[in-house]
Amino acid sequence: MTDVNSIVAGWLRDLAFIQTSPHSRWGYKRAASAVMRLDVPIDTLLKEDGTLQTIPHIGPASTRVVLEVLATGESAWVEQAVEASPQRADVLRRRGLRSNFLSRAAALAAMAAHQPSVPSLSDYRADLQMHSDWSDGSQTLEEIIATGVSRGYSHSAVTDHSYGLPIARGLPMARVVQQHEEIDALNAKYAGRFRLLKGIEANIRADGSVDMTPDELAQFEIVVAAPHSALRSSNDQTARMLAAVQTPGVHILGHPRGRMYSSRPGVTADWEHVFMAAARFGVAIELDGDPARQDLDYDLAQRAVTSGCLFAIDSDAHAADQWWYAETGLAHARLAGVPRSRVINCWPLAKLLTWAESRSRAA
Ligand SMILES: [Zn+2]
Repeated sequence: MTDVNSIVAGWLRDLAFIQTSPHSRWGYKRAASAVMRLDVPIDTLLKEDGTLQTIPHIGPASTRVVLEVLATGESAWVEQAVEASPQRADVLRRRGLRSNFLSRAAALAAMAAHQPSVPSLSDYRADLQMHSDWSDGSQTLEEIIATGVSRGYSHSAVTDHSYGLPIARGLPMARVVQQHEEIDALNAKYAGRFRLLKGIEANIRADGSVDMTPDELAQFEIVVAAPHSALRSSNDQTARMLAAVQTPGVHILGHPRGRMYSSRPGVTADWEHVFMAAARFGVAIELDGDPARQDLDYDLAQRAVTSGCLFAIDSDAHAADQWWYAETGLAHARLAGVPRSRVINCWPLAKLLTWAESRSRAA
């Protein structure tokens, strides 16, 4: 698949990383993000005279790169600058950390393609990884409900960080009790319209253990377990991920690799082995749609399809304007051929809860 916006953004990123002034570095990074977030392929914004339509945040120097890449498939200008830069090695390393990241335009194209058995946005009724202002998000619980209703969802889970991740303002269990009281009150208020599930994003420690006790995990309806450390190590971490999916009470393996766009590779593991175990234990593998994560991507997700896994497709939204991230995850699922029936976000609430309870009892 050719994702022209992703290619153009890559060259702008290269240009950003070799800048010596923080201001120009920021400017080219912002231009790259603007290209990644366009709704349409950037070549459709060329005018008849060969110039580019005005695009917010894309200045004259970035436009020069865009036109060069559209004309020749690469930017000789950026390449020369990279060759001459003391940052060259870092740029080459970062180029290797941008594979299978979809631009918004490519995600929209994947969403629009006719494919009967994969999930579409209209099948999607619940976002199962989201953060509120109780931990490191900015949306209140009631705002989460309002946004969910406005998107036509019937339920969703708030999954703030666990106490093991204080850097993300993880919730001590005493705060969890208070949060659950507020969720109960909101669910009573919105009964029949929307149901907010009590979730948590637990942290998978480097040794594969989850940072909460079984009794604590049992207090949640949805447990996402996700790695947040050792994400730049090239050591094999299969044992870590196997231990996580085998932990009773874990429902979703969240952003399984922990990769970050142009920045870090995430966990190295024998993923087939991990997926087979997840399928056996009934743990859903997440496609985290945060544009900077896109984790799993469609290649790896396809291998999880073959292994028989269930899937969760989530936004990982920390704010009300990030819910569309779920669509990036949906696009990866569609490209991977994930069957709709295996996407837990598309299940009716009762089916989701029955599955979640059986997973909580598993020991
Ligand atoms: Zn996380």
